[in-house]
Amino acid sequence: MDRTRGGLDDETLGFVLQTLKTVTERRLDQETRLHLDEDAEFPAELVDEMLGPELGLHLLFLPEEVGGLGAGGRDLFRVSEEMARVDLGVATAFLAIALGVDPIIVGGTKEQKRYWLGRIGEEGLIVAYGVTEPEAGSNVARLKTVAEPILGEEGEITAYRIDGTKQFITNGGVAQIYTVLVRTPGGPSFFVIERDTPGFSVGAPEHKHGIRASNTAQIVMDGVEVPADHLLGLEEGLGLHQANEVFGFTRLMVAAFGLGAGEEALNRSVAYGLERIQFGEPLYRKQGFTHKLIVPHAVRLEAARAYCEGVSSRLDGGEPGLQVEGSIAKLFATEAGNAAADAAIQAHGGYGYTHEYEVEKIRRDVRITTIFEGTSEIQQNIIGTHRWRMVVKTKGGFYRDMATSLRELGTGEATALAADALAETILAAHTKKLPREQWAMFELARLAAEVETAVALAHKAVQDSSSRKALLMACARLHGGAAARDVAVTGLRLLLASDRYDIDEIEKYRTAVRFDEIMVTAAGELAEMGRVAAALEVAVE
Ligand SMILES: Cc1cc2nc3c(=O)[nH]c(=O)nc-3n(C[C@H](O)[C@H](O)[C@H](O)COP(=O)(O)OP(=O)(O)OC[C@H]3O[C@@H](n4cnc5c(N)ncnc54)[C@H](O)[C@@H]3O)c2cc1C
Repeated sequence: MDRTRGGLDDETLGFVLQTLKTVTERRLDQETRLHLDEDAEFPAELVDEMLGPELGLHLLFLPEEVGGLGAGGRDLFRVSEEMARVDLGVATAFLAIALGVDPIIVGGTKEQKRYWLGRIGEEGLIVAYGVTEPEAGSNVARLKTVAEPILGEEGEITAYRIDGTKQFITNGGVAQIYTVLVRTPGGPSFFVIERDTPGFSVGAPEHKHGIRASNTAQIVMDGVEVPADHLLGLEEGLGLHQANEVFGFTRLMVAAFGLGAGEEALNRSVAYGLERIQFGEPLYRKQGFTHKLIVPHAVRLEAARAYCEGVSSRLDGGEPGLQVEGSIAKLFATEAGNAAADAAIQAHGGYGYTHEYEVEKIRRDVRITTIFEGTSEIQQNIIGTHRWRMVVKTKGGFYRDMATSLRELGTGEATALAADALAETILAAHTKKLPREQWAMFELARLAAEVETAVALAHKAVQDSSSRKALLMACARLHGGAAARDVAVTGLRLLLASDRYDIDEIEKYRTAVRFDEIMVTAAGELAEMGRVAAALEVAVE
């Protein structure tokens, strides 16, 4: 299955981002955002304009062969991030089209791509992606929707009859084209279905907690007949593989949603803290305000950003098999975005609890990002299983090599300690089959995300030569130290909690991870937090 996505050059990406900015500034002022949220209204006119002949923003996701712009991972990431800063509901409505189109890009034959992608491009069609079912959520393999082959006179398959229901489909009620995963005799397979096919119907929009401007609905297929060439790839049983390929890009997109929403919440908190006077001075002068509600979130969002940038450029470089990296990006960035948005309500006090200040809307909107495109727990399952195997296979080399590369750069000693300690922790856990306990495996997955994002941030900070370097360096030191201590303390807890290790083995573990040395990484952190707070203040002013 070939997918070439070199991506846009800087100038074209800049132009696309500027176009998006212009259109959202004009069409999505605060009053409109609040109204779409309150009335749960799909922004049909805005989406029509975005897909219309003048803007044609959907061409971004389409390959150049069919007249698209051929955006890559980096482009998808940046567009998703910027749109999420403005309104995550609208971002979801627009970018779900990219999700819907993706099975055709990764799984369609040349002819199918030419026909479907060509039409989507020319006609500006809204596309939806239908995988989830009422009884098949995280466990996609449990899907019940079936496609029965209809045979022609010669016994050849001429068409399929599809029956079943898909649940929680973004754009489900407003799309014209659907890519739907269904069970065929040869296994799960994607089909393209047009909305006006007899037997196809859509449910009422769901009443949701957040992203209320996006439409989410059931789709029902009751004896829907489609020609055999609507089967993507013209071969049964490729669907789960194609779905995994789709995740490679779309998990990065949802990571960017979490990141963009979190960044917006954080920026609003910094600006508010600088302006709001309590006890005779701006809140931002209170260390308990900055070091609790601002700095930790700035650090985690920078780490998320550094990691996502790394994954997107590796995707654009054509590197295959980045499933775990996509999961780490999604898990870490969406959890960081949620935490930052939650802190933003607190930072705004009572005003944060009102609609007018919008941070409570950002909080509700960003909540979905740890649920759709694979929940955080599903990401932890993927990360835990794969990293456990990888560390055992390389006898710890996977993480030790990361530590070595940082030491060679002459930076990030705390992060290097974290990476070495994680190798030791996974190997120690493996000796007594501890990762077979799902709780332990999830904790190891969480630590993998902490460490790998810290490694990405340390590399980015040292290579940076912009005015943000001091901020990035301080964030990298804080995140690296926190990751190291997290690995050591959590590792110790895992071993003790299991009752499988005697006191000598526990002591051996403490020595192997260099526990005492790791604790010392906290030295100087108070000053680092002050530096981050000061740098953010300058950035906002
Ligand atoms: C607003 C919205 C938009 C959506 N858009 C789309 C769309 O466009 N297309 C589409 O196909 N789907 C879409 N979805 C569906 C979404 O991807 C699923 O809701 C999600 O994958 C989780 O499935 P579920 O809701 O059935 O939860 P479940 O799978 O029932 O999970 C419930 C809880 O159990 C946990 N859990 C599940 N399995 C495990 C396990 N093995 N170990 C430990 N914990 C576990 C989960 O993490 C979660 O916390 C959307 C959902 C929403 C709410």
